[in-house]
Amino acid sequence: MDSLDLATFPRLSFLARPTPIEPLEGLGRHLGAALNGVRLFVKRDDLAGVGGGGNKLRKLEFLLGAARAEGADTVITVGALQSNHARLTAAAAARSGFACELFLTRSVPRTDADYAGNGNRLLDDLFGARVHELPGEADSLGLAEARAETLRAEGRRVYVFPSGGSSPVGCLGYAACAAEILSQSAEMGVDFAHIVTANGSAGTHAGLAAGLAAIGRDPRLAKSYAVLAEESEAARLTLDKANATLALLAPGTHLTPGQIAIDGSHRGRGYGIPTPGMLEAVRLMARTEGLLLDPVYSGKAFGGLLHDVRAGRYRPGDAVLFVMTGGVPGIFAYKGAFADA
Ligand SMILES: *Cc1c(COP(=O)(O)O)cnc(C)c1O
Repeated sequence: MDSLDLATFPRLSFLARPTPIEPLEGLGRHLGAALNGVRLFVKRDDLAGVGGGGNKLRKLEFLLGAARAEGADTVITVGALQSNHARLTAAAAARSGFACELFLTRSVPRTDADYAGNGNRLLDDLFGARVHELPGEADSLGLAEARAETLRAEGRRVYVFPSGGSSPVGCLGYAACAAEILSQSAEMGVDFAHIVTANGSAGTHAGLAAGLAAIGRDPRLAKSYAVLAEESEAARLTLDKANATLALLAPGTHLTPGQIAIDGSHRGRGYGIPTPGMLEAVRLMARTEGLLLDPVYSGKAFGGLLHDVRAGRYRPGDAVLFVMTGGVPGIFAYKGAFADA
């Protein structure tokens, strides 16, 4: 039985699980022979539970569960100005009665009005978070910790989540998702050869790899396209986080570098900077499936997957599952990129 016992970890509920797995039939018809016999599926982690939905909700179920269990009343997190994680932390905090503060850096070289104030940034205010905007090079986590100390001195109980919510406790959300995928795969009678995701703060890939290993399956089933760090740094981060997560799930189990499959060649010039592959992927998925990828993460990752499918890098007959991780508000922040291209 492909299951994981996570009952000892406190958890809140922010999305309807299991999220559906669907075949990409319209995209398949469009690609035709270019598919090289690969069967593409998506896991709909973009479906809105709370706050517009996205992969961070799975991490926040465990992060806010731990915060609640320890009596916290306030949560603080960090991210880029258009962070999906920050937006979903604000929403999940509002949903479960925590005060929320966000330390957001202007780390992406975009200064237009849509990037500065639309998309996720608009929603942060709507969800009632207190937002601190910082220059790109600011030490946001250091400032968040200092703010937490100030609030604690005033009698508040504060929890600080790292970038992307990718602490070992946050990664449990995607370890649980690995078990969820394996049980859906058994029900569908489809054996996935690859589970593909974007890699930003590395917690999604790390959690999937840790969950697979804890269940006794090959962690290389999980594969990611890096969009934030360069390939070697992303691989190092993902391995560290997977092992820290395994220390909670299956103490004594360790992954080695060869068990983490990462491709960094579709990141483009850097985090949050559009690429032609991303723009094509977002448009193609929208027009052939009516589904929305995002410009920063899933668009680049799906662009990488499309490139590799066309290049024959996936085997004919393989079923490949792409995790739709959300991030739809980012489209509104990148209006200029879609309009120009
Ligand atoms: C954060 C994010 C990712 C990447 O997840 P990590 O766990 O940070 O690697 C992928 N897609 C979207 C839309 C995200 O917001």
